[in-house]
Amino acid sequence: MTWQPDSWRSLPIQQQPHYDDPDALAQVEQQLSAFPPLVFAQETRELYRQLGEVAQGRGFLLQGGDCAESFSEFGANKIRDTFKVILQMAIVMTYAGHCPVTKVARMAGQYAKPRSSDNETINGVTLPSYRGDIVNQYDFTAAARRPDPQRMLDAYHRSAATMNLLRAFAQGGLADLHQVHGWNMAFVENNPLKNEYQALADRIQDTLAFMNVVGINSNTHPTLHETQLFTSHEALLLNYEQALTRVDTLTDKYYNCSAHMLWIGERTRQLDHAHIEFFRGIHNPVGVKVGPSMQPDELIRLIDALNPNNDPGRLTLITRMGVNKLGEALPSLVQAVQREGRHVVWSSDPMHGNTRKASSGYKTRNFDDVIGEIREFFDVHRAEGSHAGGIHLEMTGQHVTECTGGAYQISEDDLAQCYRTQCDPRLNADQVLEMAFLVADHLKP
Ligand code: PEP
Ligand code: MN
Repeated sequence: MTWQPDSWRSLPIQQQPHYDDPDALAQVEQQLSAFPPLVFAQETRELYRQLGEVAQGRGFLLQGGDCAESFSEFGANKIRDTFKVILQMAIVMTYAGHCPVTKVARMAGQYAKPRSSDNETINGVTLPSYRGDIVNQYDFTAAARRPDPQRMLDAYHRSAATMNLLRAFAQGGLADLHQVHGWNMAFVENNPLKNEYQALADRIQDTLAFMNVVGINSNTHPTLHETQLFTSHEALLLNYEQALTRVDTLTDKYYNCSAHMLWIGERTRQLDHAHIEFFRGIHNPVGVKVGPSMQPDELIRLIDALNPNNDPGRLTLITRMGVNKLGEALPSLVQAVQREGRHVVWSSDPMHGNTRKASSGYKTRNFDDVIGEIREFFDVHRAEGSHAGGIHLEMTGQHVTECTGGAYQISEDDLAQCYRTQCDPRLNADQVLEMAFLVADHLKP
């Protein structure tokens, strides 16, 4: 079958909303397809190149952000805090782990969510499930839950504004390595790891001072003043993704310009379904979530479909197995990939296999399970002689209490204090900084 941006439409598809007004939907798609792209293909190729390095063992991918961005929490402080915490993690990992880190935010478009059921029933009332702010609203009323195509336009505009601020932060001096001391946000002030972070910041400062003496500074090397942060989201709502897919004038190839990197979720990666078809034709670096039921031969067929030329950087496998299952499920997958000589980035999502319900009813994850899955991930790759290439986290720069454990020992009773996610529980700024030190230990040569 020849690929076209719309060839996915003739195939079965999972996890899509039912829009009851096809004309309104078509009109929105038409409008979106005339809007400017959110990213430039050349940037996307730079991410592809960096991920190619990671696939070959020469770097590490840090990907993270909200489970779902929300329209109601959209604002500058939230964007800034997530940006800063990703950068802080990257600094710890680069400096303490002696490893270049590619930073990819789950931001500027992470608005569509797969759900375990199409409908939700509360007190005898059944309504369509909430599928993310790009589709419908969270409130449990018939009007709020009705999928509304106009929300795609709202999501586009919010993504554009988020992207704009991220670019300004990345290039406008907020990311200057010399400012690293200034990044001690309130949470670092009180963090049990404060001294470790401070010591690291001091060492970086010393290094920069030395480099300046020998003639290396932000005038000679602008990268000291700037950073690169790429964007990503789950490309679930293909009407939206297709409308932002464009031919790049420099290469004549199709790129999905809604983000630099897109991934396919665990629930929509069926080989003969629409999502694989759509992803096959775009030239972005792409990811696929890989759960514990994945079999080695199925994985190789998935790789054949998404990366037939075996290009390093094209495909990131994001394993999300759960701390108790990874040790069993991952080795045979890694062995199959090694045996077949496939180039992939192996990344660990330690969140989605470790979700549980607290006795209070909150959906949560325990920090020890999250850390446990990451440790196992590194151990398996070390044992198999493969490169543990990245982590994929649900996290926020804000001081939420959604995951239990960590240095502050958040308990199940504490969850109610600041539980704000509309979807899955996120690690807070303290918990991810703690994780960064741990990952850095594993990265050290
Ligand atoms: C997610 O990343 O938010 C998600 C839904 O993941 P998965 O597809 O792995 O369940
Ligand atoms: Mn999630």
